[in-house]
Amino acid sequence: MQTDRGACFLLIEGYGRGKCVLLADAPLLHYTYLMHELGLMTGVMGVVTQAAEEAGAVRVTDISLSVGEMTEAIEDALVFAFEALSEGTICEGAALHVNMGKPASRCLECGAEYEHDRFHMTCPTCESPFTELIAGKEMKIDSIEVDLPD
Ligand SMILES: [Zn+2]
Repeated sequence: MQTDRGACFLLIEGYGRGKCVLLADAPLLHYTYLMHELGLMTGVMGVVTQAAEEAGAVRVTDISLSVGEMTEAIEDALVFAFEALSEGTICEGAALHVNMGKPASRCLECGAEYEHDRFHMTCPTCESPFTELIAGKEMKIDSIEVDLPD
């Protein structure tokens, strides 16, 4: 795994004016993470923009998201991606609230339902490894606040 520290240049093409962001002294690993969050936020921005336009809004002021930890999204990277993507759009300047949600699973042997972290999914009741994920991969927009024209 590449973990060299050094300047990492990320060129975001096709958004706004084509923006080049310098992440000074960031592990190169972040590049991969950030691409993931950019993809997720592109989807969110599409939904938010459409909803705001349908409501006749002039500006989006506040967005709340619920994000399951199993998406492997990182809160800071989501905020960074949002700031980069929203520049020059109806969403620019909006406050982004990210609520990270714990994953949960159901045991296929004893039926127990429980929360866990990203790496330990074994049933805490009977220690069965046969479980199904019931929460943690979702990414949901909880609320959008907008300014309407006077
Ligand atoms: Zn069990």
